[in-house]
Amino acid sequence: MNPADLPPELAAQPADLIAAVRAIAQGPLAEQAYAIDRGAYPVDLLKRLAATGAMSAHLPRADGSPGDYGQAILAMAEASRVCGATGFMMWCQGVAGLYMQASGNPALTGERLARHVRGETLGGTGLSNPMKSFAQIESLLLKATPVDGGYLVNGALPWVSNLGPDHYFGTIAAVVDGSGHTVREMMFMLRCDARGVTLKPCPEFSGMEGTGTYSVQCKDLFVGSEDIAADPARPYIARIRGGFVLLQCGMAAGIAQGAIDSMWAVEGQLGHVNQYLEDRPTDLQAELDSLVARILTLAQTPFDTSTDYFIDVLDARAHGAELCLRAANSALMHQGARGYLMSSDVQRRVREAQFVAIVTPAIKHLRKEIARLSREEMPA
Ligand SMILES: Cc1cc2nc3c(=O)[nH]c(=O)nc-3n(C[C@H](O)[C@H](O)[C@H](O)COP(=O)(O)OP(=O)(O)OC[C@H]3O[C@@H](n4cnc5c(N)ncnc54)[C@H](O)[C@@H]3O)c2cc1C
Repeated sequence: MNPADLPPELAAQPADLIAAVRAIAQGPLAEQAYAIDRGAYPVDLLKRLAATGAMSAHLPRADGSPGDYGQAILAMAEASRVCGATGFMMWCQGVAGLYMQASGNPALTGERLARHVRGETLGGTGLSNPMKSFAQIESLLLKATPVDGGYLVNGALPWVSNLGPDHYFGTIAAVVDGSGHTVREMMFMLRCDARGVTLKPCPEFSGMEGTGTYSVQCKDLFVGSEDIAADPARPYIARIRGGFVLLQCGMAAGIAQGAIDSMWAVEGQLGHVNQYLEDRPTDLQAELDSLVARILTLAQTPFDTSTDYFIDVLDARAHGAELCLRAANSALMHQGARGYLMSSDVQRRVREAQFVAIVTPAIKHLRKEIARLSREEMPA
């Protein structure tokens, strides 16, 4: 996003972090976006992006001053504008940091978090299944049996991104008693190099191939206190769920902005005929700007645990997914055959936008949660 196309709230943000991310996005990331789409995991670029502070801007500073969710969202949008897969991995790394920081567990918040924030180590999140389980869409796939000093975890998660042999991610297991009944849930950081963990390659996806996404299988994985983020997990999830969902809006905003950019790129040559299309760039830009302004307002209170606030966050996230689907599709209509080339970012963006719509919380999941929470809010 050029400063000229930013809404006032957006333009008022400190420019240095955003400028640093933009320089990487428009330079080396733009050069690698095609390779990333074809399956290259951009570990060096992710580390460079992390080192700018882009994936930790939302975390509280060492001096106790609060983090800035707006900055983290805008930074993610800058990368997603060029490469949605990279924007998604920034979200993975960003929420992994949030899990560690919010745990209050000194074993997670000390040097491990510092290395994560500096981008020396990378991680992700395996909360799709737990989030869907809390929304009664599916049951928990990991089971934790209490043992001396911790738990033994068994089960498998079908897809977790931003992983490698020495990476880690936050996830939740059902704690089961002797008869196999779930008594509560506990959240922990799963280390990919721990004994009992196997990463298996996933089948080929239509997009997001370079996101380091694996199926993760756990066979008697021991989880000790140094890896526990929250036990029980539910009160902790209630605290971080707003920030978790809100941060994803950066991906949606960036992909929509990239789509609008590519409509303008052909306006001189094709405007005479493109004027007959729906979802023209000026209209989409106005809608995106007001959505971004709304997201940045919500980003000022990410730890608001009220139901009304969370419904608002879910609604903004759903609007973002719908807008980026429309924008990416319209960009393809605007660009025509040149946008349909395999080398074109325009058709890649259609697949990236589809991912924003299906990754947890997917549009259908968002609408289900909004309906459920709205019913709870209504007086009996
Ligand atoms: C590229 C990619 C990256 C992802 N990264 C992460 C991540 O980092 N962390 C994370 O927690 N989740 C991740 N996910 C999972 C994602 O967030 C969704 O949970 C997942 O796509 C299933 O959601 P759904 O709405 O399709 O489930 P539903 O429509 O509710 O489907 C029901 C069930 O069927 C399963 N299912 C559907 N198709 C298949 C299939 N072909 N083979 C086996 N099972 C199937 C689903 O997993 C789900 O449990 C990723 C998914 C993809 C495609």
